[in-house]
Amino acid sequence: MKITRISVWQVDLPLLKPYTLSGGRLRFEKLDSTFIKVDTDEGVAGWGESCPWGHTYLPAHGPGVRAGLETIAPDLIGCDPRALRAINQRMDIRLPGHPYVKSGIDMACWDILGKATGMPLWRLFGAERAVPVAVNSSISTGTPDEMMALILKASADGYKTHSAKIGGNEISLDIQRIEAISSALPDGESVTFDVNRAWTPAVAVQVLNSVSSRDWIEQPCETLSQCAHVKTRVPQPIMLDECLHTASDHLQAWRSSACEGVKVKPNRLGGLTRARQIIDLAVEFGWSVHVEDVGGSALADTAAIHLAASAPDNIRLASWLCHYHLAVDPVPGQGARNISGRATPPALPGIGVVPAFDFPPEAVYQ
Ligand code: MG
Repeated sequence: MKITRISVWQVDLPLLKPYTLSGGRLRFEKLDSTFIKVDTDEGVAGWGESCPWGHTYLPAHGPGVRAGLETIAPDLIGCDPRALRAINQRMDIRLPGHPYVKSGIDMACWDILGKATGMPLWRLFGAERAVPVAVNSSISTGTPDEMMALILKASADGYKTHSAKIGGNEISLDIQRIEAISSALPDGESVTFDVNRAWTPAVAVQVLNSVSSRDWIEQPCETLSQCAHVKTRVPQPIMLDECLHTASDHLQAWRSSACEGVKVKPNRLGGLTRARQIIDLAVEFGWSVHVEDVGGSALADTAAIHLAASAPDNIRLASWLCHYHLAVDPVPGQGARNISGRATPPALPGIGVVPAFDFPPEAVYQ
């Protein structure tokens, strides 16, 4: 089987409402997504999506995906898309780094492997069954009352796990947010306080030793070494996200005892192939995982839900669905959808999501 054509669509994904992170430091109104169709000489086609979260969240941005594909895609024509390791090696030689560019290609090749073998991705990733995975709510930074109101609304919609975005300029307000939410959380529900790198180590140590909450704290500071410094001085479990890009970063996090859990996001790591390697490391290390993509439509979400479903129950916490926060749906009704706070990967071969655009691709490589 050989790749004969790679087609690229740019699609704007406006958010239902503006989303603020890191105490208002980062604000987002729409996402710039890139959809990729990989055609083969055997008539099997695969779909992938690379959707960074705006331009300011990570060293990644939408136009960069298309620029990177211009460099990578011509070199993949004639390659066997089922040879995932070889495909990734080829992309790495052609363009070192830039993982967010490669994730959509890698996703499309997994889709092809699934369709060619008649198996859904969760099976290829090693799962026994298509287990429903818990969906995380996503609570934008606000006053403690505003945030608690959003959590109660999410709870009424079926969410049992919540991701509350904190990390403001005022230390006292963050302490109030954590204490208010932690103490009022409905029975049986859990929350992760996601700081998104907003604190200095000094602020993190101060805040986390002032609160009685023992809920998860996510990415308190900018760098891995700052987070490792904080980890040894606070009583809460730490989850790392934005500071982890490569397998080496994860090994460094393990060696420095910097966390008890990690976020596994294919677009940040370079694709499903690499994200799956991180889950294997997490199994070995006993880390808890959240598995979800950085952003995107139900296509990227569903690919991540396949992977999440393959993570062992004892380390899988929850996943987040970006498409739930979008004002548009490029793949209506398809894929893993939120049903009362849970999402189940499709049983169809491959990812199980097939976009049908009524406008021509922005670029075609063949
Ligand atoms: Mg996070």
